[in-house]
Amino acid sequence: MKIRTRLNITFTVVVAAVLIIMGLAFRATHNILTELGGDYKWLAGRLDISIYALLVVSTLAVISGIIISRGLMSRIFRLIEKLNTFTVNMAVGHDNSRLDVKNGSDELEVLASNLNRLSDSYKEKIVSLEDAIVKRQRAVRELAILNELMGFVTTEFKFDIILKNFVERTKDLIKSGFGAAIIFAPDSYTPSVYVTSDDIQDPSTISIDPEGFFKAPIKDMSPLRLPADRPENEDISQEPVKVSELNIEVNNILAVPLISSINLSGMLFLANRAGDNYKQEDEDILMDFAFQAFQTIAMHEEITNLAVTDGLTGINNHRHFQERLAEEVEISKRYGRNLSLLILDVDHFKNFNDIYGHQVGDSVLKTIASVLSQQIRKTDFPARYGGEEFVAVMPETDFQGAGILAERLRARIAKTPFVLPDNEKVNITVSIGFASMPENASEKTELIEMADKALYFAKEHGRNVAYGFEAGRIPGTEEKPFDASPAAMENLASIVDARSPYTKGHSEEVSKLAAMIANAIGLDEGELESLKLASVLHDIGTIHVPERILNKPGELTEEEVKVIRAHPKLAEMVLKKYPLVEEVLPIILYHHERYDGKGYPAGIAGEEIPLHARILAIAEAFNAMISPRPYKKRLTVDEAVKELEANAGSQFDPQLVKVFTKVVAEIKI
Ligand code: GH3
Ligand code: MG
Ligand code: MG
Repeated sequence: MKIRTRLNITFTVVVAAVLIIMGLAFRATHNILTELGGDYKWLAGRLDISIYALLVVSTLAVISGIIISRGLMSRIFRLIEKLNTFTVNMAVGHDNSRLDVKNGSDELEVLASNLNRLSDSYKEKIVSLEDAIVKRQRAVRELAILNELMGFVTTEFKFDIILKNFVERTKDLIKSGFGAAIIFAPDSYTPSVYVTSDDIQDPSTISIDPEGFFKAPIKDMSPLRLPADRPENEDISQEPVKVSELNIEVNNILAVPLISSINLSGMLFLANRAGDNYKQEDEDILMDFAFQAFQTIAMHEEITNLAVTDGLTGINNHRHFQERLAEEVEISKRYGRNLSLLILDVDHFKNFNDIYGHQVGDSVLKTIASVLSQQIRKTDFPARYGGEEFVAVMPETDFQGAGILAERLRARIAKTPFVLPDNEKVNITVSIGFASMPENASEKTELIEMADKALYFAKEHGRNVAYGFEAGRIPGTEEKPFDASPAAMENLASIVDARSPYTKGHSEEVSKLAAMIANAIGLDEGELESLKLASVLHDIGTIHVPERILNKPGELTEEEVKVIRAHPKLAEMVLKKYPLVEEVLPIILYHHERYDGKGYPAGIAGEEIPLHARILAIAEAFNAMISPRPYKKRLTVDEAVKELEANAGSQFDPQLVKVFTKVVAEIKI
């Protein structure tokens, strides 16, 4: 029940009770006075009149009392009702509710204005609380994004990929449609890395003028925000912003400088904010976030660089090279792509150091590293292999392409004079070996081995040349006559033989055995020379056979047999450009043919096989039988002779076997 109703009832009951009690008391007094009679009876009459008068007066008083108090009460109750509405509004958060206060003179006015003040301060607190919550949420979001980014930074090594991730995340943080980052080469405004939120781009496609559109973020180190804030209610019919330096047109932009404590700087660019233009608040957040994140990314880049860079030359180090080559070999194998590797070794560098000192030697190495980096393509990977040796990994490059590059590099270094401290100039030369996948190798170690073999070959052939593993010298290098003197021949034979403990002395022995047969069938002096030369050189092709195959203890796989069988052809390729050796080439090429036509590489039979090749085949086979081999037991001379006889007519020329066994028998006697 409402207080007002309760008050009305109580007031009416009390007034009625008082009137009834008074009425009863007057009635009792009236009766007593009437019974007493005489003068008292008169008194009773007078009392009656007073009572009626009193009743009328008090009824009037009660009625006017009720009317007056109702007036007063309703003012109080109106206020209470207003208070009710006011508090309900406050409770549900309608912060525009207010009590109207007139002049503030009585207690009710004071109460109302107090309540208004209470409500004002409450509103103020709520606003700042909400603000704090929004800020906190944003900070948590920023922190979460920063955290994720840092997690990414620690698992990824490639700077441009990390940078792209950074751009994507800032773009989300500031709710933009497009983002980009540009990193400048040290101490310049030349873009060295350019990524957008969509892609890693070629930095040479853009150029940034430090005095141009981006002067603020890249030169003055302050943010650039377009369109700028305008006074409220101003007509904002917006023109698109043209950014010709990045070849784009956008609605609005926000660009901030990227600064780090190391020598790495650039710019972060956002555009097309969702819903609205960029505000001061976005600018503050971006400056803060970009600074923190980029500082960490730059630090990480510095550390990564230290771990993968060679201290002297600043190019990639050996460890990084091995890692990268392993990756590239995997890609090459998986997708069947070409992959080439070149190894470069400075010629006579020990002498150079001895003459000019190690420090000058070191600056030569720096020069060579920089020429190497300039000469190769962007997709190639240069590294210092160790000491005065350098490498370049060349993805998607076939043997032919590698040869062109190797020769260009060799020529460039030979033509670049090195300036000594006393301003004298010297020319440094290098030798280069290269090999390719899948032509020469199927594994990483094999590829290195093959390129190294080619390098060795280049050193053997006079230095300042580029050799491919397979095709011999690259056209364009100056020809050098082949040294066919006996000493040189012996030297060459020993190089071939030294490759395997099992073939030590093999070439020389074979040469002697072949000469015995030649003498017995009466070949002339010139032919004898050719045969000797062919015998010495017959295994030169095995220089190109990986050691692991050459010295394999167990049975060879089909692939490996193929590689071994390629050696006569390889020998021919290596030797064919030397005129003096030309006439012995058929001997070498066909020394693994069989009399029955089942040999290799051509599968020719009988008299089709050159005579000297048939002689060499017997001499080589006989020597192999009586020498220790990893895969079979060595035979005695008698056993070997029997073996030759058993294969006469199938593998060997039967006439020549007869001659040979006779010679062997004579020697034994
Ligand atoms: P070759 O033509 O056969 O290559 O002759 P070379 O004297 O260059 O022989 P080799 O390749 O074996 O020489 C290695 C020399 O390179 C030994 C050392 O004097 C020099 N060298 C290796 N590392 C450094 C280096 O970091 N600084 C300097 N100054 N010299 C180095
Ligand atoms: Mg060396
Ligand atoms: Mg050297």
